[in-house]
Amino acid sequence: MRIDRCFFCSGPIHPGRGILFIRNDCKQFKFCAKKCNAAFKKKRNPRKVRWTKTHRKGRGKELAIDPCFEFERRRDVPVKYSRELWQETVKTMMAVEEIKSKRQKQFAINRVEKCRGLTLANDKVDIKKGIHLLELKEKKQKKPVVQILEDVDIEDLVEMEEN
Ligand SMILES: [Zn+2]
Repeated sequence: MRIDRCFFCSGPIHPGRGILFIRNDCKQFKFCAKKCNAAFKKKRNPRKVRWTKTHRKGRGKELAIDPCFEFERRRDVPVKYSRELWQETVKTMMAVEEIKSKRQKQFAINRVEKCRGLTLANDKVDIKKGIHLLELKEKKQKKPVVQILEDVDIEDLVEMEEN
């Protein structure tokens, strides 16, 4: 038994699931769900549809280029049965799966860290740009807002937010 990949979203298709479409030139297209089949019929491009793996990988939202993917290859040539090879293969599969999940977790963490850094930088730029607005407000209210801002360091605010 083989777990196939969906032609549209690259999701897994387990045995007995999904839709198989054979075009009149004998090319096979396998879909995991009606949703993917319908999108294919509408001639949507998977790279332009946001929820597909190809789109996410293309945009750097998911781990795409990594040596851990090179273990998994489609081999259509049958191997002569050998108990040792079978045992080794199962052990290796489990080890590779562990490595893969660890790397994907690390990728997600790095992505979040990167985004957090970007938003903080953007916030600082916004404060610098909009400081005149605060000064206007200060004139109306006759309260020293800028002084308060100067007293409270941005780094301290960031730390407070994180905690
Ligand atoms: Zn699909």
